[in-house]
Amino acid sequence: MIQCPVCKVSNHHLTVICKECGSYLQNKIENLDLFSTIWNILERPGKTFHNIAIATHKNYSYILSGISGIGFIFFIFWIINAGEYTNSLLNFLFAGISIGPPLGIITVLLYTFILIISTRLGGENISFRNGFAVVSYSLIPIVISIIFILPIEVMTFGLFFFSKNPSPYLLKPFSYVMLLVLDGIFLLWTFLLLWKGIKALTDRGWIFISAVQIITISVLSGLYYTVIHSVISKID
Ligand SMILES: [Zn+2]
Repeated sequence: MIQCPVCKVSNHHLTVICKECGSYLQNKIENLDLFSTIWNILERPGKTFHNIAIATHKNYSYILSGISGIGFIFFIFWIINAGEYTNSLLNFLFAGISIGPPLGIITVLLYTFILIISTRLGGENISFRNGFAVVSYSLIPIVISIIFILPIEVMTFGLFFFSKNPSPYLLKPFSYVMLLVLDGIFLLWTFLLLWKGIKALTDRGWIFISAVQIITISVLSGLYYTVIHSVISKID
């Protein structure tokens, strides 16, 4: 909660104008600048997520969630060994780049929806716009990994990176392990930012935030696992 300096009434911590007297409680933010916001998320995520939540316009949220979808789809391709289903690297990359953006937006919509429900169980009221924007900006590490790590994976292994026959580990063990470790670091970083994002949205303690995050990620992964599993069993 945030107390109005003029009339002393308590307002929600993301309120810009006091509900009672109309005084400004914190600086109004009109627009989000892409590069300075990305930089600030890397430097001080808590404060930046707070600013994203109070900003009037949530610029670039859909673009960021769309781009990170390319990371999701290649992660799924890696899990299901999709490289074994085709001989053309070009078709494979084209499939990922075209399925990725809509998948990314759908995933962030679903994640935000589950986040809103699970925080509501704990008495918090997150608006959809705020949730969607904060979650989209939490995916910055995935966007960075698409720009810097995915091209190296494709150039080093081609389709074999997304295949177990032969295992990429047997082809180039050092490169494969290094790339997986890098991907793992970027994934952990994303989870950390998602955690910080929930904190900025709810201003609750770490137990509440961690419980919400575990519930949200479990429900979403369970949903995706079921869908992917049923699609693969139809192909086979
Ligand atoms: Zn007031």
